[in-house]
Amino acid sequence: MREGRLWIGGEWSESGNWAVGQDPRTGEDAYRYAVAGPNDIRRAVDAARRAQPAWAASPWSTRRDVLLRALHLMVDRIDEISATILLETGKPPCESVGGAEIPTGLECLAYYAAETEPVLRPRPIRTRFRPYFFGKSGFVYRKPLGVIGAITPWNLPFSLAMGAIVPALASGNAVVVKPSEYAPLTVLEIAGAFADAGLPAGLFNVVSGGPEAGAALVASQTDRIVFIGSAATGHSVARALADAGRMPPLLELDGKDAMVVCADADVAYAAQGAVWNAFSNTGQLCCSVERVYVVRERAGAFVDQALQATARLTDLAGFAEHAGRLHAPATHWAFGPLIRESARQRVHRHVTDAVERGARLLSGGRIPAGPGFWYPPTVLADVTDEMLVMREETFGPVLPVVAVADEEEAVARANASPFALTGSVWTRDLKRGRRLADQMRAGLVMVNDHASAYAMLDCPWGGSGSGGWGRLHGPDALLEVTEACARVVDRVPTPKVWWYPYTRPAYEYFRRGSELLFAGRLRQRLGAVGPVLRALMAGRRQPGLGG
Ligand code: NAD
Repeated sequence: MREGRLWIGGEWSESGNWAVGQDPRTGEDAYRYAVAGPNDIRRAVDAARRAQPAWAASPWSTRRDVLLRALHLMVDRIDEISATILLETGKPPCESVGGAEIPTGLECLAYYAAETEPVLRPRPIRTRFRPYFFGKSGFVYRKPLGVIGAITPWNLPFSLAMGAIVPALASGNAVVVKPSEYAPLTVLEIAGAFADAGLPAGLFNVVSGGPEAGAALVASQTDRIVFIGSAATGHSVARALADAGRMPPLLELDGKDAMVVCADADVAYAAQGAVWNAFSNTGQLCCSVERVYVVRERAGAFVDQALQATARLTDLAGFAEHAGRLHAPATHWAFGPLIRESARQRVHRHVTDAVERGARLLSGGRIPAGPGFWYPPTVLADVTDEMLVMREETFGPVLPVVAVADEEEAVARANASPFALTGSVWTRDLKRGRRLADQMRAGLVMVNDHASAYAMLDCPWGGSGSGGWGRLHGPDALLEVTEACARVVDRVPTPKVWWYPYTRPAYEYFRRGSELLFAGRLRQRLGAVGPVLRALMAGRRQPGLGG
């Protein structure tokens, strides 16, 4: 059985406590991993703390070269990484080798190797013309926070971990990662590549385990937590940090993404987009399409097209009927299972609740016989907003379709969810698309595609509302793990007009000085010139104002 140990201070270590993980395709025990205890986590944070200052002080070219070497090593190991992801999550290899998973993680390394230095480059402080600042000059530096604790989920175990780790390392931090207990091995592939790329020991540590290990990392002395996972857990992490008076975490949480299909949309194209975005990764993406609002006159055609595409996928995946019973597929190439049995039960609860409240089940919706945690692609029509499937994150292969009167109603209903991660508008009229996109509340809205900008590394990634705080990817991610620190030097010691003693001329100087600099009317500004000069001269005769 494959084994995953802890990676602390550049060495493998064992905690003495093991847990076993299942292959979701079969439900059988497939690997075991070391569960970190509080002592292991303390050791990892200490190792990170010791290694970080030298890394932050190293020239940018040193850090960039490590990122690039890690990138090239990971490219050479794509098959191994994809096989590990398959073992842990059951994800079809095309879904890990394509799109949101391995290429996005690799892109992350390429992007931050190229873009970190310009973002973190010291910025001169502009003083504009202000007599009080005469002789001063300074720079703003972005300093790494120190040790970043990253808590990551299982659904994109490679690219989301990379999204948390790479900007932190690139900007001079050390990291301690607590991967999901459902994907503890993939992060070890990342750790191995960084170690082989020459990343100094202690800068990257992996402490696997479940909620207790996550809570222990939150309670440890990291400088910031980057949390990617469910809203319930993320909010509890934020509460724990607030209670301890520590920096708020970066949170990437639930989605309930809406797709708005306009009357002029290319319906066949939109339906294929909906099917892929609802069913890829078996619907287990924070940015899966979980609500479709279609303008009523096109709803029938949209559902027909979506059903045809779903039927093709169901066949390809190999779900089969025997004597009225649906059977789990034998292949994992076209479609994957859900991550665990409790996830399957939640998905099925959403579907049965919708059907009991009047939705039409058009495809799927049954738990198949056989091993593993499979659930077929499921299409629901006549869905209403009070159904569970429209209110809570389903995180499974369910496509609920709602017919609406017009686009305005579609956008209003799309915006009613507290989770506002991404959304999309489908129309042939790009002007209309841009207008509606601007009205939708989400961290990312796309026109005629959904969420694929996740793989465009320059695009910030994160939710509005309860979908999260802060952003992964882009320059924004570097700002999340660094802080602006200024250094200002008084090159010429000048009299400090604001120092003691406070006098009448000093008062006049400041009051009329504000008029001179900021008054709305030119006459008022010009009128202040004389009084400012007189106050200055009067002050020169008194100690404290230039005297
Ligand atoms: P989860 O909240 O169950 O677990 C996430 C991580 O938190 C895991 O590593 C887990 O071990 C850890 N954890 C659990 N309890 C903890 C605690 N009390 N303190 C600290 N850490 C704790 O989520 P999951 O099931 O792994 O992931 C799926 C969820 O993640 C979905 O809701 C999905 O929408 C969300 N997600 C969001 C994004 C995004 O970018 N917004 C990306 C991927 C997944």
